[in-house]
Amino acid sequence: MSQIHVSQTHLSEELRLLHEFGYSDLDMPYQSVGVHSNKDIREPDTHADMRILDVIAVCLTTGHPGDVVAAAFDKRERITLILAKNGDVLPADYTVTTTFLYALTTARGWIDLLPFLVRHGKENMDKRIRNLHQSISDLYDDLRSAAAQYSFETMEEEFPHSERYRKALYPDQRVTIDVMLDGLIRTCRDASIFEMHEDQTSFLQYVQLFGAADALQNSRFLLQLTSDRNLLNLERRERAERLKRRLGKICQYARIEQLIKMVKRLPNIPFRWVEDNLIGTGEGTFEIGVDSMDAVSRGLQGELSSQDIDAINERFPRLARNWDQRRFINPRIHAELRIILHLSPTLLSGSPTVFLSAHAVQRPIGCSKRSCLCCVLWIDAFNSGTRMLWMTSGSHGKPYDNWALPGAAGEMKGVRAWRRFDEHVIMGVYTRLTDTLAWVRKLAAKRISDEHASSGSDSDGSEGAEDDRIGKIWAGDHVAGLPVPMN
Ligand SMILES: [Zn+2]
Repeated sequence: MSQIHVSQTHLSEELRLLHEFGYSDLDMPYQSVGVHSNKDIREPDTHADMRILDVIAVCLTTGHPGDVVAAAFDKRERITLILAKNGDVLPADYTVTTTFLYALTTARGWIDLLPFLVRHGKENMDKRIRNLHQSISDLYDDLRSAAAQYSFETMEEEFPHSERYRKALYPDQRVTIDVMLDGLIRTCRDASIFEMHEDQTSFLQYVQLFGAADALQNSRFLLQLTSDRNLLNLERRERAERLKRRLGKICQYARIEQLIKMVKRLPNIPFRWVEDNLIGTGEGTFEIGVDSMDAVSRGLQGELSSQDIDAINERFPRLARNWDQRRFINPRIHAELRIILHLSPTLLSGSPTVFLSAHAVQRPIGCSKRSCLCCVLWIDAFNSGTRMLWMTSGSHGKPYDNWALPGAAGEMKGVRAWRRFDEHVIMGVYTRLTDTLAWVRKLAAKRISDEHASSGSDSDGSEGAEDDRIGKIWAGDHVAGLPVPMN
């Protein structure tokens, strides 16, 4: 076995342990920790591109486990859309992309993309609807009791950007704020128990759910719950934050409006899928060690006492069984890193001054799912080694054992210390594992998030709500607005 494959197997074992321990970098005190969203540090142009690229990636993912798509613009000459995925690129990916871009040119609004989205990304949509339902059902009683004690401002302050929705649902405008809020909470719960199908009933259900989700996501009431600093309400705040992210994912498709504007501005935008044959990486199929406890001792670089083993078994009773059930791993280079490995060599060789530049240009990459722990660590190391500034919209900070070391694929002209990129990940994971095991040893009670985050929960507007047609659909005029399924 080559050195990279030895390193890869150890890394994958450590990542598997961290995963079994429910680890996430969020809220951890490490440098360059994951953040759900980094929108506060984005330049305005980066922010605009990031939102568009995130939506493109979300539209092109199927939602199958492991099917993660990343997207970036190559702006060197004619602007070109660069796409990558964790798995192999297939001829169908080109067909789907062409269909998608064509659908954008003929769409009047984002809801005209629903037939495409259901056909291609039903699984992703269903997951988002299901997750919202789970989140709001969990929080339902708390939301109702918080609403009962809440002091209301004006309708406009309570529900910004929701005028069209209010007018459609309450044409006489006589609804009170508490009734409106109660209706939104109830609708988000009761109208999120369907699956998407290629028919107008599903399209209608989605548009109706979107209306309530958008208004609730932007409500002052939810903002107050997510910014509650009272430690007694910490758990409720975390659940409210999760709810807000999930509402954001339902509404993210409305940002297709921006894509429609983009293809009007840039018709026939060329695209390509990254299909580079990467050499010297940690990709392949490997078998991890037989015994999870051996992997723990390797992680700790020392023998485990019987108390250690008892503590781990008590805290993680399913570790041994889960370990045994999946002994073979198939690590792949993640989609966002494929984009960086594809575009950086030409950017670096084309502009040697990039190394000397005091103000590196932010280079956004959109992702259908927020970046994982290892991608964040590797991108940080790559950026500090090259002075480039690649960024994705945020991270869920979680470890995946199928994350492949880029290895020699990170070697490019003018970059001497490329081995350090992988080493930074290996050390970062090792540190987190030893710290976690030290914590397990102490059996300190600490809650670790199990949130399956993905991109698309920034909430700063409701582009889709401006569409007149949607107002009519909400108001009951379904025939006027709903798209027809694809042939
Ligand atoms: Zn990743």
